[in-house]
Amino acid sequence: MSVDLSASITRQIGGFVRRAEAARDRGALLEGVFFYRIAAGLCRRLVGRSGAAMGEQTHRMRASRYQRLAAGLELAARVQPQTAGAEPWSCAHSESVSSRRQDARRSDDILDTEALRERVKSMVRRSSVSWEDIGGLEEIKEEIQASLALTLAVPPPGVKIPRNQMMLMEGPPGTGKTLLASAVAGHVGATFYDVKTSQLMSRYFGDSERMVSLLFEEARANAPAVIFLDEVDGIASARTGNESGPERRILTTLLSELEGVVDVEDSLPVMVLAATNKPNLLDDALLSRCSRRIRMPLPDRAARAAILRIHIGRAGYDSLVPIEKIAGETQGCSGRDLQQLCLVAVRTMLWRANPQLRDISRTGEQQDQVQHGQNSEAAKDLHAKELTVLPLTQEDFDRALRGAR
Ligand code: ADP
Repeated sequence: MSVDLSASITRQIGGFVRRAEAARDRGALLEGVFFYRIAAGLCRRLVGRSGAAMGEQTHRMRASRYQRLAAGLELAARVQPQTAGAEPWSCAHSESVSSRRQDARRSDDILDTEALRERVKSMVRRSSVSWEDIGGLEEIKEEIQASLALTLAVPPPGVKIPRNQMMLMEGPPGTGKTLLASAVAGHVGATFYDVKTSQLMSRYFGDSERMVSLLFEEARANAPAVIFLDEVDGIASARTGNESGPERRILTTLLSELEGVVDVEDSLPVMVLAATNKPNLLDDALLSRCSRRIRMPLPDRAARAAILRIHIGRAGYDSLVPIEKIAGETQGCSGRDLQQLCLVAVRTMLWRANPQLRDISRTGEQQDQVQHGQNSEAAKDLHAKELTVLPLTQEDFDRALRGAR
C-alpha cells in the first residue's frame, strides 16, 4: 500500500467533509463551518504538492468550494442562531449547552473565529537560537534533531517512517527545555508554533477548545510543523473528576487532536514537543500518546563547564579563573542558575572597570545638586565612550556565587 502523503491528505479531506455534512444535516451549523474550513485548508495544502493525485486547479476549486460552503453555513448560523433541535457547536465534544445566553454567545463566536485564528498565527515563531547555544545535553539534542529530521523527511512510496510525533520533555525548571524548543524554532524547515498553554485559556465558553483545534488545523495546513506546548500540565493534568467543564473539554480536544498526529501511518508531518516541570500531574491518556519521554537532568560537571563557556566565551567575555573550577563549585545548579551567575559576574566586572557608570547613576539627591547641563554631559560621554571590558576575576565570580547561595 502506498503511504503517499497526498493520498493521506485526500482521505482526511473526505473525512472532514463528511463530518461537515453530518453536522450541517443535524443543524449544528457552526460545527459544519469548522469542518469545512479544515477541509478547505487541507485542499490548499495539496496545491503544488508533487505527486498529488489531482491537478492543482482541482484542489484550488475544491478549496474555494468548501470555503464557500463554510461561509454559507456561517451566514445561516448568524441569521438563525439556533436551529430547532440543533446541537451547539461544542456537541462535537459531547457537552450540551442549555442556557440561552450561551447559545447567543456561540452565534456571535463564529465572528471571532478569525480573531482566534490570528492569535494562533501569532504563535508562529522564528528564533536565532542554535544548537551550539546549548551546553551539554548532547544525546537529547541529537535525539530531537533526528526526530525533527524524520518528521520533515518524505518517505519513498510504501515505506513507513518511525516518527517521534509527540515528545515530552520533563524535568526541573531552568534545565533547557524552552532553549531546546527555541533551537528547533531556529531550524529552517518547519513552521514552529510556540504555545504557552496559558495562551489557550479563555474565559469565553468554547474558545479554548476552538483555539486548540485551530492550532492543529493551522499546523496541518502549514505542515511540516512543530507545535511546542510549554507547561503542558496547565491544560493536561490528570482527570480527577473534580475539574470544571472547560478543563475537561480542552483536554478531550487536545487528546483527540493528538490522536490524529500520532497515528503514524496516516499523519501529516506535524510534531508535538511538550514540556513540563510537573510530569506527575499529567493525564495518563496524554502520557500514553507520547512516543518519547525525555527526562531533563541537572547538568553534570562537564555540562556545567559547557554552559559557563557559552554564557562567558560566546557572549564575548574572558575569564582569568579556569571555567572547570567554577563548574566544580556549582554542583546542583541548573542551566538557568549558571546563566544568572555569569550575568552577575559580568555586571560586577563592568561596574568595576567603568567608573564613569557611577556618574550616570547618581542618587536623586546628588542629581539635584548637579547642574542639568553637567548631568547630560555625563550621559553623552557615556554614549560616546565604549565600555571597558576586562577578564572576569575570582572576585567577580565570588560575588555572583554569594548572591546565588
Ligand atoms: P526550562 O524551559 O527548562 O525551564 P529554559 O530553557 O527556559 O528552562 O532555560 C532558561 C535559561 O537558562 C535559558 O534561556 C538559558 O539562558 C539557560 N540555560 C538553561 N539550560 C541551558 C543549557 N543547557 N545551555 C545553555 N544555557 C542554558
